Amino acid sequence: MMRKLFAWWRRHQGDRLRINESLWDQVEAGLPFLGHLLPDERLGLRRLARQFIAEKQWSGAQGLHLTPRIQLTIALQACLPILNLGLDWYAGWVGIVVYPGDFVIPRRMLDEDGVVHEFDDEVMGEAWYGGPVLISWFDHAEDAEGINVVIHEFAHKLDMKSGDADGLPPLHAGMSRSRWIDVMSAAFDDFQQRVDSGEETPLDPYGAELPTEFFAVASEAFFETPALLNGEYPAVYEQLRSFYRQNPLQTPDPL
Ligand SMILES: [Zn+2]
Repeated sequence: MMRKLFAWWRRHQGDRLRINESLWDQVEAGLPFLGHLLPDERLGLRRLARQFIAEKQWSGAQGLHLTPRIQLTIALQACLPILNLGLDWYAGWVGIVVYPGDFVIPRRMLDEDGVVHEFDDEVMGEAWYGGPVLISWFDHAEDAEGINVVIHEFAHKLDMKSGDADGLPPLHAGMSRSRWIDVMSAAFDDFQQRVDSGEETPLDPYGAELPTEFFAVASEAFFETPALLNGEYPAVYEQLRSFYRQNPLQTPDPL
């Protein structure tokens, strides 16, 4: 009963949000990787994005004024990975904090000699376990193709859904956990070696840091440059295809 009520409330909140058609078109035109979606899927993504905007708590940091265009741009990208999974995958936290450009997070680290190091970490985004997602917003984004801060951070949220950020999100029935681990660790090891040897990799080298970063970076590529990921690591592409229940390599038939 409660679930039904909540689903109704969520739809209602989403429907109440007034967003004019030209703004949708304008924002979607700036996200060319939505091009593989079928007309029904595009509508489904808009519906999810509305509900997502309505049910999260948005704030602009450091004086950033949040406009509908910023919210819509972030929401469409955040909802793309869960288009066929559902908004419940982002349940359990509400905050989205948007920064003007990249930002600094003060860190404290204890080394093995017991000495505390304090330093500022300059980041473009961060996802907190059970807490908010922090994202930087660039007004005239000249993002390198295949790099997508929003998809990256929300992939971490999906990863954390299983408890840890370890590159292993909760898998669907019918998916094999051991197959996922074999495929992902083989690709991660290979990628790490390539990055360590100084090779210029087509995927973001940040993915060589940790298995969770590899999952997030592979997810960005899966949606933004699927042919590239499929060419580099076809088995990873297949696993992500099963997990996200989407095939960005498919192009809709021309009307
Ligand atoms: Zn990351």
